[in-house]
Amino acid sequence: MVEIVETKLALRARADAARAAGQRVGLVPTMGFLHEGHRSLMQAARRACDVVIVTIFVNPMQFGPNEDLDRYPRDLDGDLDACRAEGVDIVFAPSIREMYPREPSTTVVHVAELTTGLCGESRPGHFDGVTTIVTKLFAITGPCHAYFGRKDAQQLAVITRMVDELDLPVTVVGCPLVREPDGLALSSRNAYLSAEHRTIAPQIHAALCLAADAVAAGETDPRRAVDIVRAHLRQWPDFSIDYVACVDSATLQAVDQIDADTLLAVAVRLGSTRLIDNVLLGASS
Ligand code: AMP
Repeated sequence: MVEIVETKLALRARADAARAAGQRVGLVPTMGFLHEGHRSLMQAARRACDVVIVTIFVNPMQFGPNEDLDRYPRDLDGDLDACRAEGVDIVFAPSIREMYPREPSTTVVHVAELTTGLCGESRPGHFDGVTTIVTKLFAITGPCHAYFGRKDAQQLAVITRMVDELDLPVTVVGCPLVREPDGLALSSRNAYLSAEHRTIAPQIHAALCLAADAVAAGETDPRRAVDIVRAHLRQWPDFSIDYVACVDSATLQAVDQIDADTLLAVAVRLGSTRLIDNVLLGASS
């Protein structure tokens, strides 16, 4: 049975009690509208932890003024069914007022450098919203294992760095990116795509695979990998490319030469929908 918790106090009490009983706490932060990508994080937490907590909170602080906060898809009943099916113990679904009693928040957690490039460039303030809410969730939950998807590779790098530099008592666990059978990275935002755009969206992954194939065949020049992705996507004029970049997966700095830690990351717009994807070059993903 999944227990639904709406207050910070109740969540902290449940997590404290679990730890006092010697149990390992697993935390899966999400914005809801759960799909198989989210479910893979729950499964990883379920395998490694005694108490699994899923948080469902569409965090206004990580949306820009012209972004999709108001139309972001929500389905709490469906989400609870998914959590039940994955054997989740607790769903934390707080109100905005519960998380931000004072608006706007006076305190903001900011990770420098890693947040300036890639998605940070076209989404100013986004990562401050992410790191602030994640820090709050960590502070409420206390020591835990926290599960994040590699779909959001920049977010994972930023949170990993933040936990390290702030000495937060959290073990960050990165989990594999989950895709549709046709290669499209699962995302709550895929629900926005028109039928026509849905048919061309898998070309993002196809483009990344072409570059990964070139690397597997010996290509080590990051500019060449980026060119391959751009050239492929250009065949569909509906793609508007935000960025294509080869960066180190931990520092997010541009690389001169591709190695096993090099991330090839892309963000595009298809109509009004912004989609991101990535592959680790030299790995088989
Ligand atoms: P979101 O609800 O979009 O904020 O995502 C919550 C968590 O699920 C984040 O750690 C994401 O990286 C992860 N996630 C979202 N989509 C996927 C996916 N396709 N594969 C793996 N993890 C994902």
